[in-house]
Amino acid sequence: MSRTALATIHLGALRRNLARVRQHAGGAKVMAVVKADGYGHGLERVARTLGDADALGVAALGDGLRLRAAGHRQRIVVLSGPDEPADLAEFRRLQLDAVIHHQSQIDWLAAEPATFESSGRPLRVWLKLDTGMHRLGFAPEAAEQVHAQLRALANVSPDIVLTTHFAASDEFDNALTAQQIESFDAATRTLAGARALANSAGLLGWPAARGDWVRVGGLLYGLSVVEGKCGADLGFEPAMTLSTKLISIKSIRKGERIGYAATWECPEDMTVGVAAIGYGDGYPRSARAGTPVLVNGAPASIVGRVSMDLVTIDLRRVPHAQVGDRVALWGRELPVETIAAHAGTISYDLTCGMTRRVLFVEDES
Ligand SMILES: *Cc1c(COP(=O)(O)O)cnc(C)c1O
Repeated sequence: MSRTALATIHLGALRRNLARVRQHAGGAKVMAVVKADGYGHGLERVARTLGDADALGVAALGDGLRLRAAGHRQRIVVLSGPDEPADLAEFRRLQLDAVIHHQSQIDWLAAEPATFESSGRPLRVWLKLDTGMHRLGFAPEAAEQVHAQLRALANVSPDIVLTTHFAASDEFDNALTAQQIESFDAATRTLAGARALANSAGLLGWPAARGDWVRVGGLLYGLSVVEGKCGADLGFEPAMTLSTKLISIKSIRKGERIGYAATWECPEDMTVGVAAIGYGDGYPRSARAGTPVLVNGAPASIVGRVSMDLVTIDLRRVPHAQVGDRVALWGRELPVETIAAHAGTISYDLTCGMTRRVLFVEDES
């Protein structure tokens, strides 16, 4: 087989994680966030597996198109809404919900009636308020006025969901989240419509933010949203295991150096393995020497720099290692959060980073 790096997606884990999200959510509806190709797990695969979710959340129209093309009939919410006027016709044709976060989008809707009459159905919208993240959304002070503008449009469904996004809900004692909840509640007090505030961390740490909908990504994939904890610590299971094989084992003398830039010096005569994975597959180049891997289930660690196709591994603790042995990089046996910490990033960044060279396989467990 030409490709050795393998991402195994655990469909059972995805389903069980959704069930756990539902337990946390109480009666709130669950939007399964599947942006960035399902956090790297495969958009269509995740959507098919999480058919029980009340809606799917995608970043942009193109993902909605992919899901409809694959036959998904679920409610789909495009989290950044239309990017240009021509998108509106696609939203209608594909029956996608649009998050409305900017006045230009309302202007496009207001200019739309002719298209609307020919295609019939009012657009379902989620009105987004910027309560402190300062990325997308209307100022809370504008909420009533913007809501009224949307309600006045015949081509918009009157059933408007009110939404906001948290900047720091993963810090369970960060006052910003409490302020954001308060600001949202105050701005929407007089407005009709369902409320959607919480992401994964909001769901776990901020009961006051539960609302009528939760928008959950990370936890569905078993990814921790809390510093210093892995998904399992929070009761969720990893949905991706990344593995490859050892393709070389050599004895290297004390004082010799390993890999590009000769950054790592052998402290003694030792055995060094080479595994077939590198940053060309999405394994982070920033993973430092000492980043753990498992060779045939036994703990070992990376030495030297990660290169495009290969990583070098200290095999002193795995004396019986052989060429062909399985090397696990992260997943069920090794929390991806641990690797992220060694690479100076977060788990989401790693699972989203798998390249097309990696072979994806599914298992039911
Ligand atoms: C990505 C995203 C989410 C999901 O966030 P998680 O932390 O992965 O649960 C929810 N809402 C919006 C607007 C997002 O962009």
